[in-house]
Amino acid sequence: MRCPRCVQKIHLAATSCPHCGFTVEHADELFGDQDVSLQKFSDPAGVLRMKERKPMRKLMERFEKRFPQLFVSVYLGAFEEMTSIRQFGFWLLNRAAFSDVDVNRPNENGILIVVDVTAKTAGVTYGYSLLPYLDDESTFDALSAAHPYLIQGEFLQAIDLTIRKLETTLKKGWRRAKRNPEKVLGEIGQNPVARTKASLKGVRVGNKISEPREKVEVRE
Ligand SMILES: [Zn+2]
Repeated sequence: MRCPRCVQKIHLAATSCPHCGFTVEHADELFGDQDVSLQKFSDPAGVLRMKERKPMRKLMERFEKRFPQLFVSVYLGAFEEMTSIRQFGFWLLNRAAFSDVDVNRPNENGILIVVDVTAKTAGVTYGYSLLPYLDDESTFDALSAAHPYLIQGEFLQAIDLTIRKLETTLKKGWRRAKRNPEKVLGEIGQNPVARTKASLKGVRVGNKISEPREKVEVRE
């Protein structure tokens, strides 16, 4: 994984970034140390048109149907200058208590798409259950595909395309893991004990589940 602040590669089990010293507490200092209750789709920037709200919900439902353990969340915000949406996404996925997400889908199984509607940039943050399946390259590719819509302010289309690309990547990863589980799941060195506490990638305590997900299920 990469540090949400300096973006250098760090070990999955690291409690702080060896390059810049970033910890979960730094993100809390920036954005608050309280859990936040919100819905999986939130639009504090108020940019989505009324008629686009239902299709947005449908996209997220479609994703949940295809991936019975996972969920996708979307946050459309208008950020002030200098806010790193990478750090914000990391913080939000740690801190969010999603009121409309089933308890069987904890935050570590979540994908969060944060859009800065002012700068017209977006970031993807994902829980550590998804580490065998997603990486910087695949999430960057998904966002790149959506970029033409993003710069036009067509946020629904941008999110739709991002989610579709991520679905394709997840399906491929799932097939790879099915063929060769030791290799795919062993690559990230899954160790539930080492990963539970204070890992940079750790999600909020309330969302933690005792056993990590072995693999992602896909309904085809
Ligand atoms: Zn760092």
